[in-house]
Amino acid sequence: MDKKSANFENKFITTCPSCGQNSFLIFQKIDKIPYFGEVLETFCSCSKCLYKTSDILTLSKKKPLKKTILVNEKSLWFRVIKSKYCVIEFPELGIKIEPGPNSEGYITNVEGLIDRVITFIKSLNVILPNKKEEVSKLLNNLEKLKKGELVVHLKIEDETGQSAIIKRVKQEK
Ligand SMILES: [Zn+2]
Repeated sequence: MDKKSANFENKFITTCPSCGQNSFLIFQKIDKIPYFGEVLETFCSCSKCLYKTSDILTLSKKKPLKKTILVNEKSLWFRVIKSKYCVIEFPELGIKIEPGPNSEGYITNVEGLIDRVITFIKSLNVILPNKKEEVSKLLNNLEKLKKGELVVHLKIEDETGQSAIIKRVKQEK
């Protein structure tokens, strides 16, 4: 592990892919994730049109990943590294999110991942107005899951191996 690269940070402004103005801030840093390795995180945001995106890139070669965990009070705290190639599935809830062209990569925990899924499902209300009942049932279950009132499996799959779920205890932070 190279100490210098572990502290790497970079910041620059470039042309925004959304509005075309020279107001797109790109911030990059390298994070060292225990039991996983170094990850280059990129956060981008435009000060003019407010377009925002993020991505991650693992800096070592990884094997394809297929992992299933039980989501309960303890595992809500597990760290999740989600690349833009990651497939997220809650089989019991009938939720499967496949990567699309606007997929983002980020580092969070299981609870944070559920929050992202909630935001995504909420957006379905706009595209699928006739599915309101199904959508609200899903949201209800996801909220219960976050509170530990529901226990289901979470499956993540990543052919590039750039995603992971890493066990940890709450105190570690
Ligand atoms: Zn913009």
